[in-house]
Amino acid sequence: MTNERRTVRVDLGERGYDIVIGERLLETAEDVLAPIVAGRRAVVVTDAVIRDAHLPRLAAVLDRLCDRWDTVTVPAGEDAKSFRELEALLHRLLDLGIDRSTVLVAFGGGAVGDVAGFAAALFMRGIDLVQIPTTLMSQVDSAVGGKNAINTPHGKNLVGTFHQPRIVLDDVSVLESLPRRELLSGYGEVVKCGLIRGEAEFAWLEENAPSLLALDAGPLIEAVRMGCGTKAGIVASDERDRGDRALVNLGHTFAHALEAEAGYGALLHGEAVAAGLAAATALSARLGHCDPRVAERVRGHLRAVRLPDRVAALASDRPWDPRALLTHMAHDKKTVAGRIHFVLLRGIGSPFVDGTVPGQAVLDVLDGECRRG
Ligand code: MG
Repeated sequence: MTNERRTVRVDLGERGYDIVIGERLLETAEDVLAPIVAGRRAVVVTDAVIRDAHLPRLAAVLDRLCDRWDTVTVPAGEDAKSFRELEALLHRLLDLGIDRSTVLVAFGGGAVGDVAGFAAALFMRGIDLVQIPTTLMSQVDSAVGGKNAINTPHGKNLVGTFHQPRIVLDDVSVLESLPRRELLSGYGEVVKCGLIRGEAEFAWLEENAPSLLALDAGPLIEAVRMGCGTKAGIVASDERDRGDRALVNLGHTFAHALEAEAGYGALLHGEAVAAGLAAATALSARLGHCDPRVAERVRGHLRAVRLPDRVAALASDRPWDPRALLTHMAHDKKTVAGRIHFVLLRGIGSPFVDGTVPGQAVLDVLDGECRRG
């Protein structure tokens, strides 16, 4: 075990906060949690899987620090992200008789973080939130930046708020119990961060992916730090998602279309992101923005770690249809006034947003990406 800790600051002035990354943080983070929860009540919002696997590890610290703490469970996975579950959670919080000084601790994957974050934003118009994400995806991405949302019959994440946490604790030890497929999905977002960051970071991932995916703590902490640093930097420059924050959506215009076409839940988000990164770099090369060798290099890395390296590599019971995917993109919430916005690359480390990509170029790229064999 390494006692090494890394801290990434999300620089949002008086709402700024630290992301603390390390091993066995659940047992050892008393010093960083104390300023937020000491002498106060806390409610841990979690699901039954995380509660049973990891809550005992966090309990000792909360016992020592908190005046009183309780646990509320929500359904595991996306089922938690509904009006019904949000309402049930708020009623449970009211039943517990907590007040505005109580701290909500979101302890779980992205869905728990979403519904707990939303509840923290709503309860008495906003109470303190601590994020303790338990998947690689949520550690590097969804727990950082303050966005939360639920799903409705109209689509995913269409109803939500911004509510920044007071601290994010990324304990990489909890990833030991994460299914391999979930770990790889989270790594899809890490690859995206490497592509946004630059040549040195992407080359580092190419070199270190095998050891970090084998949960070697040193490289894993470094990869989580890179992911959080990327997101933190972009969030700090554009908290409300009006400009630069779009850059974290590299690969996501394609990914969201793939997830919608597959039916929600069929693909893991990071799997769709991986295929989306391959498509976005192929589109960048096709439009002449970047060297085709960049697209091949991205594909090669995805293949090396066994992430989908093209749309056709994603599980599906029927062939992927480029036109259907383009139609989903036109309905994406990031599409403004009918213009589909793509994040493209001029090279590794040089992403930019382009709202002028011809639909035919997208179809041509998708034809290649969707073709089997
Ligand atoms: Mg994402």
